[in-house]
Amino acid sequence: MIIKKSPAEIDRIAAAGEVLVRTMNLLAGKVRPGVSTKELDQAAETFIRSQGCEPAFKGYRGFPGSICTSPNSMIVHGIPGPYRLERGDIISLDVGVVRDGWVADAARTFPVGPISPVAHKLLAVTEESLQLAAVQCVAGNRLGDVSHAVQEHVEAAGLSIVRTLVGHGIGRSMHEDPQIPNYGDPGTGVPLEEGMVLAVEPMVTVGRHNVRVSEDHWAIYSQDGSLAAHFEFTIAITAAGPRILTPWHEAGGHRVAA
Ligand code: MG
Repeated sequence: MIIKKSPAEIDRIAAAGEVLVRTMNLLAGKVRPGVSTKELDQAAETFIRSQGCEPAFKGYRGFPGSICTSPNSMIVHGIPGPYRLERGDIISLDVGVVRDGWVADAARTFPVGPISPVAHKLLAVTEESLQLAAVQCVAGNRLGDVSHAVQEHVEAAGLSIVRTLVGHGIGRSMHEDPQIPNYGDPGTGVPLEEGMVLAVEPMVTVGRHNVRVSEDHWAIYSQDGSLAAHFEFTIAITAAGPRILTPWHEAGGHRVAA
């Protein structure tokens, strides 16, 4: 069942998104060679709690971290720990914030110093695919239009979309219906309606799309060891079009051009 949100409720999620963006900006300033993923986690948790919010991932199904930190061939769900970033790494940071009972969820992959041309392409294409998906988040479209926008852009660039992991609806719970695959056919799937709030999150690999789960049962890697990127926005479908509730550079959500 898809739970639609009122404009006032969307504003509440945007308020959570505002703290999330400030957290992500703080982390962006800390990503450098030598910093450990645990240090990033602690910085995020301290900041989120200082804002009167809670890290959404902490304790979720037993997850021990406040954020997910996934370097290089790790796609998602990395547990923060002793790993220290190295020059030339890429690092995916996934952050969830609960504010007054409403959840926002977003992810970005950062370069650690200068990165290889293929890594640079991976980050650019994955972020572009998310922007293209956001444009499709309008009432009257179908969910498959969002999924297809990601797939088309990623595959045209010769990269692979992870198929076993999906985005999700979001609101008072981090994971609500519908599931949002990053591949699919336009004009198919659930009709999009005003008031839906979606966490759209392309996960892209340089090699094949297959994945493997680590021994800790959390971290998910590309099976072939190729580099992976992950970008995610929380996006509301509004009367005025898509509203990104976790925009990187502004507070309060901005609308993307349709
Ligand atoms: Mg998510």
